[in-house]
Amino acid sequence: KVRMSDTKDSGNKPSGGSDRRPLSLKGSGSVGAGTVRQSFSHGRSKPVVVEKRRKRILGKKDAAKKTVEKTEAPAAPAPQAAPEPQAPEEEKTVLRTLTETEREARAKALEEAKAREVIEKKEAKERAIREAEEEERRAAEREAEAARRAEEDAKRTEEEKEAAREAEARAKREAEEEAARIEAAKAEASAAAAEPNEAAPRRKVVSEVKDKDKDKDKDAGGRVKKKPVSEKPVSRSRNAPRRRSGKLTIARALDDNERQRSLASVRRAREREKRQAQGLGTDQKQVVREVVVPDEISVRDLSDRMAIRAVDVVKVLMKQGQMATVNDMLDPDTAQLIAEEYGHTVKRVAESDVEDAIVQAEDREEDLLPRAPVVTVMGHVDHGKTSLLDAIRKSDVAEGEAGGITQHIGAYQVTMPSHQKITFLDTPGHAAFTQMRARGAKVTDIVVLVVAADDGVMPQTVEAINHAKAAEVPIIVAINKMDKPGVDPMRVKQELLQYELIVEDMGGEVQTVEVSAKTKMGIDTLEEAILLQAEILELKANPNRTAAGSVVEAKLDKGRGPVATILVQNGTLKTGDIFVAGAEWGKVRALINDRGETVNEAGPAVPVEVLGLNGTPMAGDDIVVVESEARAREVTEYRQRKDRDAKSALAGGSRASLDQMFSKMKEANIKEVPLVIKADVQGSVEAIIGALDKLSTDEVRAKAVQGAVGGISESDILLAASVSAPVIGFNVRASGPARALAEKEGVEIRYYSVIYDLVDDVKAAMSGLLDPTLRENFLGNAEILEVFNITKVGRVAGCRITEGVVRRGAKVRLIRDSVVIHEGTLSTLKRFKDEVKEVQTGQECGMAFENYQDIQPGDVIECFEVETIERTL
Ligand code: GDP
Repeated sequence: KVRMSDTKDSGNKPSGGSDRRPLSLKGSGSVGAGTVRQSFSHGRSKPVVVEKRRKRILGKKDAAKKTVEKTEAPAAPAPQAAPEPQAPEEEKTVLRTLTETEREARAKALEEAKAREVIEKKEAKERAIREAEEEERRAAEREAEAARRAEEDAKRTEEEKEAAREAEARAKREAEEEAARIEAAKAEASAAAAEPNEAAPRRKVVSEVKDKDKDKDKDAGGRVKKKPVSEKPVSRSRNAPRRRSGKLTIARALDDNERQRSLASVRRAREREKRQAQGLGTDQKQVVREVVVPDEISVRDLSDRMAIRAVDVVKVLMKQGQMATVNDMLDPDTAQLIAEEYGHTVKRVAESDVEDAIVQAEDREEDLLPRAPVVTVMGHVDHGKTSLLDAIRKSDVAEGEAGGITQHIGAYQVTMPSHQKITFLDTPGHAAFTQMRARGAKVTDIVVLVVAADDGVMPQTVEAINHAKAAEVPIIVAINKMDKPGVDPMRVKQELLQYELIVEDMGGEVQTVEVSAKTKMGIDTLEEAILLQAEILELKANPNRTAAGSVVEAKLDKGRGPVATILVQNGTLKTGDIFVAGAEWGKVRALINDRGETVNEAGPAVPVEVLGLNGTPMAGDDIVVVESEARAREVTEYRQRKDRDAKSALAGGSRASLDQMFSKMKEANIKEVPLVIKADVQGSVEAIIGALDKLSTDEVRAKAVQGAVGGISESDILLAASVSAPVIGFNVRASGPARALAEKEGVEIRYYSVIYDLVDDVKAAMSGLLDPTLRENFLGNAEILEVFNITKVGRVAGCRITEGVVRRGAKVRLIRDSVVIHEGTLSTLKRFKDEVKEVQTGQECGMAFENYQDIQPGDVIECFEVETIERTL
């Protein structure tokens, strides 16, 4: 016989009549809670609380308990037979919720209960014996009293005394009976609790017992003397005819298994409470909220939104077998499951929705006012960009008035004598320009292309043209150094024709201005040309709204913290504004203009330095004023996360590659395949562009956004990134920094040495039939320090490995000034006298090419492997 008990419980259990009701309620409380594990397609599962009417809980493992019930439930004609068929599925459900520890705890409790039971039994027996003795003694006394009464009838006082005594005794006896009856009723009730399916009949029995007790109470007074306890079996006989055929003593009434059963029910009730505390209860009264669940949400954030303690959410996660801390991020599916478990409705939002908050509404036409144009100066090195910018700056009429010290903040605004204004970005060159564009900033309205009259169109001039064209920004040509004797501006204009820049003189649209940065000649004409172009562009903005702009420059200043020069493009930026700048945010602490003056606000096309950032943004980042710090945080947190994700995603692939071209073209319905081409000689560039032209059909066209001579530079990569084009290197290599940048920006660099191969690949990409890609894996670079002539072997290069490793058997290229002059294999790779397999960075070695002798000190030997990658299109 096993009794479910708990020392503490039985100790605390009140034995008064007050617990009768709750106990019987529990017995009839047929609503039970169980949990089942529900699996989901994404490999997660969660325990789901199922509410059911629990009719009978019989555990196979709890056979002992079953025995108890069998013996306790004889009232029903065949108690075991009826409920058993329906038991299996339910007992499974219940047993599954019992963990190992729970089972242990239960077993322990049972043992404790047994021990305590023995003690209790003993105590109860002793008590009963004592009481019986007392009863007998009193009965004897009373009989003696009665005899005395008969003899001394006259002694009324004595009689009265006796009567009082008798009344007292009766009261005492009645109290004892009452206690016994309570125990009996309680036992019945708990039996019902353990067998809830029999709750109804049981309850009836209990009430019958009560009624009988009541009846008995009535006549107790007269009969108790004889058989105080023999009453019990009569009242209980219906319940336990088999077992209780004998005498039922108080001790026996107390010593009842049913009593422990009630503890088991208390235990269950406790478990229910616990579940409710965890929010898993079935009858919790909670406010149903609409919980907004973004793409990613922290445990803390989720619990805040549900108004539940974070630790409770952690517990729920643990139950699902997911260990999490309050700061861990949850995916939206998990977050939804949890929120729904708490009964909330879920509103899933794409995380990118936070960006909506900073998208500014379109301005109404009538709110728009003309704004100053923003100009970038580009051109070949030494053609006078810096000198021209200086000259323009000095032409500023406001400059003289204010007498301020010019500050380099990355941009400045000049006022014409006509009071019209022009803003110049004073980081000249196309690299900075394209870097901004690569980050999505469209700041520049007009490009001033500086070409030195004495030098003409040079490689960087061509690059600048390509960059400006890719950005679809109008160009004004400033032919500089016109003060130099014997220069011919016509020559420059003619050269420009080659690059599809048709100047006005030649019937085109491109304005040209002859200037001299040195003598300041033509500066005002240039400014007029800019203003004219601006007028054509109809540049307008609404100054009466919150600001939006772009970061032109940003740095971490030792004294002032992060400082960004921003160009307001729309609206007006004011001190105190809260803003988002790229993945950073801040509150405008101070605004400093290009003269170093502190200002309170900056309108459209006004460059200002902003203080009050929490981090350093990047040039080209957008800047938008938002309504609150919370919103600013939300946006920047999202962006920082996105940046991180993008970085890890980039490791797996690139966004600008020939492979992806076709799918990209199909997706976006693009008709043009952009390519950035760099080659060793102009002839190659022309040959490649010509060959690509022939590939073009009505539907698709391969277009070189850049076709130039020279090694692949960082600016080529930026250009490629800005138009999502792969970079083709024909017999040229990328510089180290360019290679790193390409990796960062996800730009593919493809090297070719045969035009046919190049054209073939582009053709395949355009038709979506790219063969398995032969991908080059860069292994290392070695610099040739010395060249030795060794008889029989030939010319051997004494090298130092400057980067990576050089491996025997791998392919090698000989590069001179970024141009590939030979590609082949090594005939020897030696360290000291020994032939070796591999040489690491920093080590020196001897190398010789197979069938190739033209090597020079200063040349670079590039070592690479060719890997075949199956196309995944
Ligand atoms: P950047 O590299 O394009 O910025 O060119 P710089 O502005 O640094 O000018 C390069 C050189 O050309 C400097 O030595 C200048 O003095 C010179 N230079 C610039 N503009 C003129 C000009 O209009 N006339 C003459 N003679 N020299 C100029």
